[in-house]
Amino acid sequence: MSLFHKAAFLRSAAASLDVPASSGEIAFAGRSNAGKSSAINALAGGRIAIVSKTPGRTRLVNFYALGADRFLVDLPGYGYAKTAGATLASWEDFLGDYLRTRAPLRGLALVMDVRHPLTRLDLMLLGWFSPTGKPVHVLLTKADKLSRAAAQKVLRRVEGEITAFAPNFSVQLFSSLKKSGLEEAEKVFGGWLGFAQAPATQGPAMSTPGRDQGSRNKNPRAIRGNQPGANALRFKAPRSGRRSGRRPKSPIA
Ligand code: GDP
Repeated sequence: MSLFHKAAFLRSAAASLDVPASSGEIAFAGRSNAGKSSAINALAGGRIAIVSKTPGRTRLVNFYALGADRFLVDLPGYGYAKTAGATLASWEDFLGDYLRTRAPLRGLALVMDVRHPLTRLDLMLLGWFSPTGKPVHVLLTKADKLSRAAAQKVLRRVEGEITAFAPNFSVQLFSSLKKSGLEEAEKVFGGWLGFAQAPATQGPAMSTPGRDQGSRNKNPRAIRGNQPGANALRFKAPRSGRRSGRRPKSPIA
């Protein structure tokens, strides 16, 4: 059972961020079409997030509950080519305060297509977020689209560039299609949410990252910051009493 398999759709917030009470959440951001929805689905083990067929369509913030009070927060994609300027301005208006000031936000999952990493907009987002001091973990998605050697080369380059922003930024290869990189991502995100402290009876020990070769951040401070539960236990989230049962609304615009 995956760490996030019990994720349940809770609500969408559209015009303003009508955010639920939360004791911990991870925001997922990335360029439109980078593979963010697919990554959330892969982590959740099912198609709970909206997988858009049209780049730039998703403009809602979707909250996926992990138990009663912890969430994966799916932010709208940014940078759809035809509207890049307008999208970025409205994206920052809409989400800048949330990213900078939201106390329960434990960290940012930044999703990038491994073939198009660190675009100008990704770098701007990292620039906005880094003053919070909170960690960023980059998922280089669609790793299946590159050869192993080419993917590793991108991984090394991105690692070098993002750790220049902050020592607690980290990066890994990921493929929603091949389900590769899941264990490493679960370990990082589960650690952020405090699931590493789950009682031993809740599941077997997480495996070491060996199977998902690809995580790169050799800075010891970064590793401590992102993996507080090096011997983390796999978390089984309790069933949420707040599950709404509603389906995600259609994305607007
Ligand atoms: P989002 O706009 O960032 O949420 O992107 P989506 O998750 O909707 O994915 C955009 C497109 O990329 C879809 O056609 C997905 O099927 C495809 N895609 C997403 N992740 C992967 C992956 O890991 N490998 C491959 N080959 N395709 C992917």
